[in-house]
Amino acid sequence: MIPMVDLKRQYRQLKDEIDRAVQEVLDSAQFILGPNVAGLEEEVAAYNGIPYAVGVANGTDALLMALRACGIGDGDEVITTPFTFIATAEVVAELNAVPVFVDIVPETFNIDPKKIEEKINDRTKAIIPVHLFGHPADMDGIMEIARNYNLLVIEDCAQAFGAEYRGRKVGTFGNCGCFSFFPSKNLACYGDGGMIISGDERIAAAVRMLRNHGSKQRYYHDVLGYNSRLDELQAAIVRVKLKRIDEFNELRRLNADRYCSGITRDDVILPGEEEGAKHVYHQFTLRSSKRDDIAKRLSEEDIASAVYYPVPLHRQRAFARLDVPSGGLAISEIFAGEVLSLPMFPELTEDEIHTICHVINHAV
Ligand SMILES: *Cc1c(COP(=O)(O)O)cnc(C)c1O
Repeated sequence: MIPMVDLKRQYRQLKDEIDRAVQEVLDSAQFILGPNVAGLEEEVAAYNGIPYAVGVANGTDALLMALRACGIGDGDEVITTPFTFIATAEVVAELNAVPVFVDIVPETFNIDPKKIEEKINDRTKAIIPVHLFGHPADMDGIMEIARNYNLLVIEDCAQAFGAEYRGRKVGTFGNCGCFSFFPSKNLACYGDGGMIISGDERIAAAVRMLRNHGSKQRYYHDVLGYNSRLDELQAAIVRVKLKRIDEFNELRRLNADRYCSGITRDDVILPGEEEGAKHVYHQFTLRSSKRDDIAKRLSEEDIASAVYYPVPLHRQRAFARLDVPSGGLAISEIFAGEVLSLPMFPELTEDEIHTICHVINHAV
């Protein structure tokens, strides 16, 4: 059996260090907003070369509170991609703002800056680019439009910790960047966790308040907020893994290279890296008109594969009431029927990749 991700292998490798970190938290009996959250915030800010980082309960809340800290609310329009996990647009709608979907670039699965301008009007307030599967979105194109139209940019980096665009880390281009530490992400904890990074002190301060019931001083509440703190146990676990994130991402890149040289079918389109981009392969996602046949053959050989994502967001029932226009989103719709993600994690072996490639190459 080859799973999409095998978390046990990494735990076995880091067991001593993680067990020690967890035990220290248990011994300290400090579980909420203690030294590990503060330490991780400093380390993540330093890693990304940005002044502020704020730990929160999960990646979805990171996006939600980032939007609120940026002042997004009633009737505001927020431009994003329909080819992403629901959380990206869910939070927009939860704030009574309106997600406006723009189609993707075929090569990267990310929002197409050339198609953004036609969706901008007086109500447009922000763009949420998603660095999907670990490949950075076209930040030059997106930031140019944001400057020209005075729009906020909130980067969804949930799948892209450590990815770079023109030598600079994702999450540092816009007003803020949002990360998820969900167990299967590139940088992850053993439960739910998330973080917002920003160069803007006001955004960081607003999120610090929002995550803790809108409070700066205990039992004094300036705004209505949330209970959305990262906890000490999860922060302690992420700190152990953060020390190795570059090594883990390099292994993912090596695995991607091995897939690319191993898969030789000409009816499969392999993912690649655009010029100036550093991909961290949260997912290795190919495209093929034979997608379903390939997935079936893999499954017969006990090899996992997955479709991220089978339904673009404008077609989701949850958004039906928004009456979102579905025109001009053809690439997302076609790709939903063609994409297939293969097992991808740092500890995947060369032999396993060889086996997977062999099954794919010989599937009918
Ligand atoms: C995982 C993910 C999220 C949400 O993160 P959670 O920690 O699961 O709430 C948001 N956006 C994208 C693109 C994701 O992959």
